[in-house]
Amino acid sequence: MDESKLAQLRANFGNREVFHDGQDPVLTAAGRQVQSPEGRRSKPYTGISTFLDLPAADSAAGLDIALVGVPMDLGVSNRPGARFGPRAVRSIERIGPYHPTFRGVPKAAVRAADVGDVPFRSRFSLEQSLEDIEEYYTALTALGVRPLSVGGDHSITYPILKALGRKAPVALVHIDAHCDTMGAFDGSKFHHGGPFRLAVLDGVLDPERTIQIGIRGSSNMFWEFSHASGMTVIYMEDFMRMGVPAVAERARAVVGTGPVYISVDVDGFDPAYAPGTGTPEAGGLEAREGLALLRALGGLHVIGADVVEVAPQYDPTTNTSQLAAQLLFEEFALMTLGSGAPA
Ligand code: MN
Ligand code: MN
Repeated sequence: MDESKLAQLRANFGNREVFHDGQDPVLTAAGRQVQSPEGRRSKPYTGISTFLDLPAADSAAGLDIALVGVPMDLGVSNRPGARFGPRAVRSIERIGPYHPTFRGVPKAAVRAADVGDVPFRSRFSLEQSLEDIEEYYTALTALGVRPLSVGGDHSITYPILKALGRKAPVALVHIDAHCDTMGAFDGSKFHHGGPFRLAVLDGVLDPERTIQIGIRGSSNMFWEFSHASGMTVIYMEDFMRMGVPAVAERARAVVGTGPVYISVDVDGFDPAYAPGTGTPEAGGLEAREGLALLRALGGLHVIGADVVEVAPQYDPTTNTSQLAAQLLFEEFALMTLGSGAPA
């Protein structure tokens, strides 16, 4: 490097507080949205934690998107603990706010806030809890607010779909090690292994516009309903053979242009990346594959999304919560900057 270039760099950058030179208008605008005019940025380790460091709100009225905690794990079939998922994911605030694929700050594009947790009447009754969730999301839908949720075990997605699909069945992009279309066992049809079967049978989920990605393990005998109802099932072997771009293309073809819900069970990811979950299955998605897949789904009409099954007591490194918060941010980006919702 010659002296004149060094002198130029010193003149341009030596005493600057802003972090972009203004040459790229998108990055310059993003910089102004994440840093105050005085050059201050929010600290991700102070204050009361909220999802994605969004403002807290007492009510969803007036919002475009409500981030909701659903701390309920009465539907687990094995290791409990996902009731602590919302608190763990709220504690991870150093995510975003700039999104590199959709090139912008999602929270600056909409009115969004963390509205707290679904209020539950009973800590003992799964059936009552599912009713509570349906009632809460029905009220959100009546306000015209799109929900972005953190579970809780996967049984929470059934009452959410009941609220969102009441007028017309919705499409679904579902990342999971398990199809979650199992029938009743141990005397209950309500559990985290069966929300999508129940949703189809209730007429709120369209199986022919449903794609399930990352399926593996030793439970294939339970997934007859997925195939019988016409869902597209991408087993992990298919995923490895096809690669991310082809899976994303398939997902877009399956769900089409109508209203779609995105549900991400963190056990869809390999336990190397997401050990903090109740029913881990070896051989899953890598974190970078899941992020690339979601980032390839821009333009879908996403009416709601969730991240479920984070059980922080099996997550000594916090890697699972870090990944879950990132996945939540990807869904938030798809519902805002990456949205193909009709105007
Ligand atoms: Mn699941
Ligand atoms: Mn699962």
